[in-house]
Amino acid sequence: MPELPEVETIRLQLSRNVLGKKIKDIVVDDARVIKGVSKTVFKSKVENKTVKNIIRRGKVLIFELADDLYLVIHLRISGWLFLSKTYEKFCRVGFVLNNGKILNFCDSRVLGEIKLIDDWTNLALIKNMGPEPLGLSKQNFVKLFDKKTAKIKPLLMDQRFLAGVGNMYAQEAVFCAGISPQRRADKIDKKDIGRIYTCLIRILRKSIERGGSSVDTYRQLNGEKGKYKALLKVYQRQGKPCFRCKATIKRESIGGRGTYYCPKCQK
Ligand SMILES: [Zn+2]
Repeated sequence: MPELPEVETIRLQLSRNVLGKKIKDIVVDDARVIKGVSKTVFKSKVENKTVKNIIRRGKVLIFELADDLYLVIHLRISGWLFLSKTYEKFCRVGFVLNNGKILNFCDSRVLGEIKLIDDWTNLALIKNMGPEPLGLSKQNFVKLFDKKTAKIKPLLMDQRFLAGVGNMYAQEAVFCAGISPQRRADKIDKKDIGRIYTCLIRILRKSIERGGSSVDTYRQLNGEKGKYKALLKVYQRQGKPCFRCKATIKRESIGGRGTYYCPKCQK
């Protein structure tokens, strides 16, 4: 599932390739991904609009169109955006741009969403979202954990607590900091929370530099895989030796999600 680095990669690439372009036509092959309005209304409102700005909040992309209209795109589990010269048959919706390129919204499991709204800041999903990790100081990050009794790893990936971090980067961050994913947040001392911050920020930035991690369907805007996967230290490494201490990496379900960790060097 795309997390902050993957969605930010797409936003940066859209800013270079789609910003300022006009959406001339829309091919809707599968209207299930369009929420709240009919296919006809969607087409009539979005066609001939120019993309004025592209914003990311957490794992959500927001396209600002002319006339105060916003396209909110949530990729969820298997959604991805692919810029190509043709409409791709395996995709659901294609935005035909005035430079001849097509922005394809592809989603094998049809769990992603495209919403058309006039005030994206009012969406419940956005309003209830926690702060952006890349915009937080270490001091303010540490403060978020005051009196939090949840386990550290599910807490890091709770979008109401912190925006954009999901199952994969939460595991990588606590591995890097040497903290067990099972530890209760309020039992971890501030110095160690500070270490999680330093690790998380470094990991998110490095992953953005490499175009994110393609562990499943996620691809960059040009269809290429993200290159951070090769740098993952613990995710999906069950049974393999820990890069730090050589102990065997374990997998356990924590808060209902598969979690990989080193039982020896994560305390
Ligand atoms: Zn280890």
